[in-house]
Amino acid sequence: MRKLLLAILGIVLALPVSFSQTKPKLSAAVTPFVKEEAGVIVLAHVRVVDGTGAAARSDQTLVIADGKIIALGDSGTTKIPDGAKVLDLAGRTVIPGLVGMHDHMFYPSPGGGLPLYPEHASSFPRLYLAGGVTSIRTTGSLEPYADLELKDAIDAGKLAGPKIHVTGPYLEGQGAFALQMHQLKDAEDARQMVEFWIARGATSFKAYMNITPDELSAAVKAAHAHGIKVTGHLCSIGFREAAALGIDDLEHGIEVDTEFFPDKKTGVCPNPQAAAKALLSMDIASKPMQDMIHDLVAHHVAVTSTLPVFETSVPGRAPLDSRVLDAMTPEARLAYLTRRARISDNAATSDAAVIFKKELEFEHEFSKQGGLLLAGLDPTGYGGVIAGFGDQREVELLVEAGFSPLEAIHIATSNGAEFLGELDKIGTLAVGKAADIVVLQGDPSTNIKDVEKVELVFKDGVGYDCAKLIESAKGMVGLR
Ligand SMILES: [Zn+2]
Repeated sequence: MRKLLLAILGIVLALPVSFSQTKPKLSAAVTPFVKEEAGVIVLAHVRVVDGTGAAARSDQTLVIADGKIIALGDSGTTKIPDGAKVLDLAGRTVIPGLVGMHDHMFYPSPGGGLPLYPEHASSFPRLYLAGGVTSIRTTGSLEPYADLELKDAIDAGKLAGPKIHVTGPYLEGQGAFALQMHQLKDAEDARQMVEFWIARGATSFKAYMNITPDELSAAVKAAHAHGIKVTGHLCSIGFREAAALGIDDLEHGIEVDTEFFPDKKTGVCPNPQAAAKALLSMDIASKPMQDMIHDLVAHHVAVTSTLPVFETSVPGRAPLDSRVLDAMTPEARLAYLTRRARISDNAATSDAAVIFKKELEFEHEFSKQGGLLLAGLDPTGYGGVIAGFGDQREVELLVEAGFSPLEAIHIATSNGAEFLGELDKIGTLAVGKAADIVVLQGDPSTNIKDVEKVELVFKDGVGYDCAKLIESAKGMVGLR
């Protein structure tokens, strides 16, 4: 009897998502992390930072039903539906779920030898969600089938994690530094790769460092024919050239723009150290830099900020918080701390702090000139940039770049949703939108560090326990 019951349950769990589009049945791998899943949930007496950039509003009441926000207003006048579960959230703040726009599913292997980036499909989805990240773009995949299967499993309620927008595998040219990347042969190869992965569910692409202008152009044409966007972490191609070729987004910012390198040859990636030196002498207020920014804005090219990964190369700045260190395997922690110490030892000869400051200035200026700035973490480099925690750090670093806390939250929520074409569903807190909501202690509109004090994360109206998600992924990063 018990066996039969389990078999029937298995069939029900295996039914396609369309069986219940809005609320899939959550599996036993998800339910231990769920804290709130009443039919109607009321977040009462809470401070609201709605993600539009508007000022925080105190003593608000927000009503969630069927996975959506159905009411939001002053506590005195907002009607509480009969039978609703009411959470008194005095002293807490709600912000929209973060939209992570450079949020890979992999992390560098600490093992030495060839550079390899194992898929972290076990720990990262839970850590993203725990960090308040309810939607991600994977922005370059090394295991695209795993990313696609993971997305389906999360959407079907089989695993806990954010909503995933899967980016196809890297579109890299000849000279890739990682074996996990295919090296394009020519423009036709690029076109075929784009077509192949769109057919399998990729909803964006990322061009990589050694791609040629012909290959990028072919990839952009093929993707745009399907209404799909292309971003790039480029080196062989400068920002303005990429904008002319039709790219939609540029990853990382000025740190990787090679167009100001004096001996830059078309389609060739200059020596990265030499390119960094060239950048040192550039002023963000200078005419060539301003012309580049205006060109990107005129072409509607977004820029994705990934400050946490850059911060780790600045002597003394890579994170040492226990929550970050505890998430790693002992091997990953040792490799990270060893490299971190070496960077600090070489502080006297490092330009990283100056370049980091230039990056902060550039991102602020790009946004002030009307550019769409997106936020991500980029969990690569030599480690220490971890799903969820890194996304929160990104918001803090945007404030260091000169944005107000409200602007930084707007960038990390609404801007990403806008770029993804999802602003009607996510990205701000408003009636009719998905209940993707982060409940925090304190007030991030006055103290941005409070963005780390996540208690509960709602995704489509289901409230997940942040502490339990983090605990479940302890000691896993670096391996799985
Ligand atoms: Zn990346």
